[in-house]
Amino acid sequence: MSDGQVPQSVADSSAAPPSISSANIHPFLDISPDALVIVDRNGNIVLVNGQTEAVFGYARSELLGQPLELLLPQRFHAAHASHRERYFSAPRTRPMGIGLNLVGRRKDGTEFPVEISLNPLLLDGTLHALGAVRDVSAQRAVERERLQQAQQIRLQADLLNLAHDAIFVRDPASRVSFWNSGAEELYGWAEQEALGRVSHVLLKTRFPVDLATIEAQVAHDGQWEGELAQTRRDGSTVIVESRWAGVRDEQGHPTTIMEINRDITRRRELEQAEHAVYAETAARLTFMQQVLDALPSGIYLVYGREARLLLANRATASVWGAQWSTDQPMLEFLATNGIALFDAQGYPMQPEQYATLRAVGRGETVLQQQEAIRRPGGSSLPVLVSALPLLQQPGTDQLGPLGEAVALVVHQDVTALKEAEYLKDEFVGIVAHELRTPLAALRGFADMLLVQTARRRGPKLADWQQEALEEIELAVKRLVDLTEELLDVTRLQAGRLLLQRAPTNVVTLARRIATFLQQTTTRHQIEVHTEHASLVADVDPGRVEQVLTNLIGNAIKYSPQGGLVTVTLWEEAATGVVKISVQDHGIGIPGSQQAQIFGRFTRADNAQAWGISGTGLGLYICRELVERHGGQLWFESRENVGSTFFMTLPIVANQKSSEPPSSP
Ligand code: ADP
Repeated sequence: MSDGQVPQSVADSSAAPPSISSANIHPFLDISPDALVIVDRNGNIVLVNGQTEAVFGYARSELLGQPLELLLPQRFHAAHASHRERYFSAPRTRPMGIGLNLVGRRKDGTEFPVEISLNPLLLDGTLHALGAVRDVSAQRAVERERLQQAQQIRLQADLLNLAHDAIFVRDPASRVSFWNSGAEELYGWAEQEALGRVSHVLLKTRFPVDLATIEAQVAHDGQWEGELAQTRRDGSTVIVESRWAGVRDEQGHPTTIMEINRDITRRRELEQAEHAVYAETAARLTFMQQVLDALPSGIYLVYGREARLLLANRATASVWGAQWSTDQPMLEFLATNGIALFDAQGYPMQPEQYATLRAVGRGETVLQQQEAIRRPGGSSLPVLVSALPLLQQPGTDQLGPLGEAVALVVHQDVTALKEAEYLKDEFVGIVAHELRTPLAALRGFADMLLVQTARRRGPKLADWQQEALEEIELAVKRLVDLTEELLDVTRLQAGRLLLQRAPTNVVTLARRIATFLQQTTTRHQIEVHTEHASLVADVDPGRVEQVLTNLIGNAIKYSPQGGLVTVTLWEEAATGVVKISVQDHGIGIPGSQQAQIFGRFTRADNAQAWGISGTGLGLYICRELVERHGGQLWFESRENVGSTFFMTLPIVANQKSSEPPSSP
């Protein structure tokens, strides 16, 4: 087989290669959009078209006669030579390098993807090969992009499956075309079971409005959100927060709807439970408020050291004569409304004495403290105030909205009681006053009888007559004392008791009273202890004598078995007072009754049990008298052990005498 002869195999397998002369081939080569390269059996370039120059960047003259390998990267040279050998031994039209990524090499060394088809060609009667080379860079770029898109879609599907939400996609007829693992988990239907089913039939979906309305909204807005009730495979109900997104084709027709459903069953259950608790609490509060409003006393709750109002019943506003607003501190409320508080004696109270502030500030329980409220209009309302700090509940650190202390306060209007008391005082005053004259006469006549009999100015009396006369005198003395006490009480109540102050040596006074009272008893020993020869106080001597006589008298009276009564006097320079104590070892005062012992007509049970007579007025009068001097009176006592009464009196002229006393 010589050069230029058509090989047998070519003739057998296909039609004979086209034959053309090099003289007239050029016009054909140049109309091709591909780069056309004709090589001879040795692989040398014989002809190229203009497109080859454009694609590879060589001038035609640089290519002709050169080996075809010039247009390939170095790494393909060897393989290419052997391919060419094989091709020329069995030439036929075919694409080259199927399944391989063929690469061309430009003059500037850059490479680019190509597709090549090979055609045998008889040029001037000799077998050549015509290669049509196409630059496929653009095509490859598109393919790469598609591949990336496909990968992205796969990734998205994987992500949807990772989501805990149930996600499914359905066509316009609601047939499921995608069903993620979240949907499998939530509904119990496997992907294979769900695909192709009508989703709302499968899930027995209950819509908040009818489906057509929802679909119309998706068609219009492209989305919908709402709450659905659906049924799981096991028949249980699930509440979901549902989001629908519609996808349309180029013509604007809906193609698919993606539905994302989040299980909110538990959340809804909790919300319902919470709502029920809230409703119950609200109902209870309303009921409590109604009960409180029906009560005639002012009842309110305060919190924090400033006693801010938490809750008040209706009567609270009428007690104060003003509306106290929630969260307002007590002092601010009082100041803005011009309300003032006074104690039982009518002295203005200091805030630290207010029952309410004591309860929240110091956790004190105050029971039935007498206060008078001067209201915005100027009217005065006597009240009994009880303030109770509310106990901490187990498990909670503190109470109140801000974790602060809370106190319950009750204001009981005692106007009616006060009026009755006033009338009683009036009555007692009148009676006592009216008793004075007849008692004076009785006392005078009894005295006269005793004195004249002793002087033998009349008939001799039998012993029983003599005793009866002495009993009469004693009883009359008691009656006189009682009426004096009653009159003192009415004077104190009416503010008619005036002090005649004068510098008074209380040491001398105490010694005189002790000596006098010592004559009335043999079972007791009265001692006066002091380092001072004189302690001069600015007091009404008659009234201080009355107080000391009462205290030492009580020490004797309430020590029925006798014993030592010690009167001690000393000076407290720092506070400018003289202090006097009266100590006994008698029956003492039971702890439970100590708080009331300064009240009027108040007597301890043990005193009555011992058969010791008394009126229960003495200590009340003593405290009033001492306090009007600007001093204080208090005691320490233990039942069956004894009592010590203390009092202070001002040494120098007391500037503060018109001010209220503070607690000892
Ligand atoms: P009374 O006329 O009853 O003595 P007071 O007002 O002087 O009235 O005293 C009131 C009560 O206080 C007495 O009834 C008694 O129970 C109690 N009391 C007063 N002083 C003493 C005391 N030294 N020891 C025990 N109890 C006392």
